[in-house]
Amino acid sequence: MSFNIVSKEEVFYYTIKSFDNVENVDHLFSTRMGWNKENTLENIAKVFNVGLENIVVSNQVHGTNIAVLEDINFYKENVYPNGVDGLLTDKTNIVLVTYYADCVPLFFLDPNKKVIGLAHGGWRGTVQNIGGKMVNLMKEKYNSSIDDILVAIGPSIGPCCYEIGIEVYDEFKKRFEFCNEIFKSTNKNKWHLDLWEANKKILMKSGIHEENISISKLCTSCNNDIFYSYRKEMGIKERMVAAIVLK
Ligand SMILES: [Zn+2]
Repeated sequence: MSFNIVSKEEVFYYTIKSFDNVENVDHLFSTRMGWNKENTLENIAKVFNVGLENIVVSNQVHGTNIAVLEDINFYKENVYPNGVDGLLTDKTNIVLVTYYADCVPLFFLDPNKKVIGLAHGGWRGTVQNIGGKMVNLMKEKYNSSIDDILVAIGPSIGPCCYEIGIEVYDEFKKRFEFCNEIFKSTNKNKWHLDLWEANKKILMKSGIHEENISISKLCTSCNNDIFYSYRKEMGIKERMVAAIVLK
């Protein structure tokens, strides 16, 4: 397993093995065990031992806008309102938070330059290359070396459960040559889509080394006792979070 489950009092969350060894970085992916809409940010603050005022959240619109965090107030006033599906910073004590209930959480870490990022990859973000966009931004903005960047693909709906129709299939077909490897035909005009493999391939196209990509392989719909699932629970309002901070 490339992810570990951890508990702190009654709160359970996952961490990424390849990130665990990096000093001065705290990160987590939440579960439904001890987490709900009301306590999410407080739980993060407790686990990381930071103040609530240090937390910044995304404003997800299934786009590919990635905010570079320099100043929390500037972000809240000028960037957040426009829609934000990715967060990136090299500043300490800014906790990045993105929300999920089946979509793919992408975690980014450059342990050398000390840069962290999160991106929300639903099928729209994935097909619009939010992963590749993040990698380019890390290189341009922070001079990250492609050899150093670690990426983790967190718990999300798996190829076992994620059925999509022709409109999604066509969007991928238009852009990627590897569709035979990420789609499995089920019924007429229905496919199962492997968003884990799709994101992995897209990241590798941007130059990320295969051995630097961790995939949790945990399906949020199959593991409904551990995770909230939008599809399985028909539009549930609860969400999991990805969170990461440099100390
Ligand atoms: Zn599944």
